[in-house]
Amino acid sequence: MKEIKEEYIAGVDIGGTWIRVAICTRDLNEENIKIEKSRTLKETKFSIGNSICEILSKLLKENQVRKEQLIGIGIASAGPLNIDTGIVFNNANLGFRVIPLQEPIVERFPGIPLYFINDCIGAVLGVHYFEADDEEKDNLVYITISTGIGGGAICNGHLLLGKEGNAAEIGHGLVEPRSTVKCNCGAYGCWEAYSSGTGVQSRTIDALNEGKYNAEILLEIVEKDISKITAKEIFRAAREGDVLSSKIVDDCVFYTKVGVGLVNNYYDCSSIYFGGAMMKDKDQIIPQLIEQFEKDSLKFTINHPPKIKLTKYEDEIGLRGALTLVKYKIEKNQVVT
Ligand SMILES: [Zn+2]
Repeated sequence: MKEIKEEYIAGVDIGGTWIRVAICTRDLNEENIKIEKSRTLKETKFSIGNSICEILSKLLKENQVRKEQLIGIGIASAGPLNIDTGIVFNNANLGFRVIPLQEPIVERFPGIPLYFINDCIGAVLGVHYFEADDEEKDNLVYITISTGIGGGAICNGHLLLGKEGNAAEIGHGLVEPRSTVKCNCGAYGCWEAYSSGTGVQSRTIDALNEGKYNAEILLEIVEKDISKITAKEIFRAAREGDVLSSKIVDDCVFYTKVGVGLVNNYYDCSSIYFGGAMMKDKDQIIPQLIEQFEKDSLKFTINHPPKIKLTKYEDEIGLRGALTLVKYKIEKNQVVT
């Protein structure tokens, strides 16, 4: 049995497909991070809260840690999320319009402080603690390009939260005025509609139906089954010279430059770290961004350009952010006060 006094932090990352839970000693020593994940259940509005409790209980048991040793649980969720009430609202991928995360957890883990955070805002804390250099720490942005596009920002050494905790919904920034491309949010011309996984996919399918561009290579890859087309196949077809896919990928990159330019205008950041599922095809996105902002940044941003980087923690960065949130809250770190 481990020393009873050793204190532990728990972190949770809730996404549309996976729920990840971690525990770690309060020093957040990388070697002590233990992780479990499970598919996101959407049976009732309490399914997610109940799953968190089950995975966390399992992790504690397997690592011989008692509930009483937990000094805080950090919960990062796809938003929008009210960080005071722990209620996720209006999320398109989690199955319910209103999801109360707090109740099931308080019932099973009474007396342990809970800290909620929007997942991308949490991720920037993870970058801050686990990988950012000293000279970039105080003005740092994290951007995820995945099913959607989201972000988190630290300015002047303080985490930006906003009135409910959703201060950097950058994916819904307008990158194309007078656009006819509709975003999942209902507006037209959002960055997410052009450059996210779902945006790339639906623009390709629309263009295929219009029939204006040659898409022979793409159609061959999916054996003429349009329902098999995802961002992955589109990026592969573009690499192989498919005309339509190349245009869609070019647009994805161009509007990402516009988006990064806006983010830098708003936050005047030292570095932007990218993450998210679309970074599987990072070679077709990141070098172009780096070149643009090193050689001709003024085309997209009036402020001095940021460094463009990738998080090395891939799909674990949100979870690391949730752990960091608890550590910073307990230590009253100025980033979160
Ligand atoms: Zn939108």
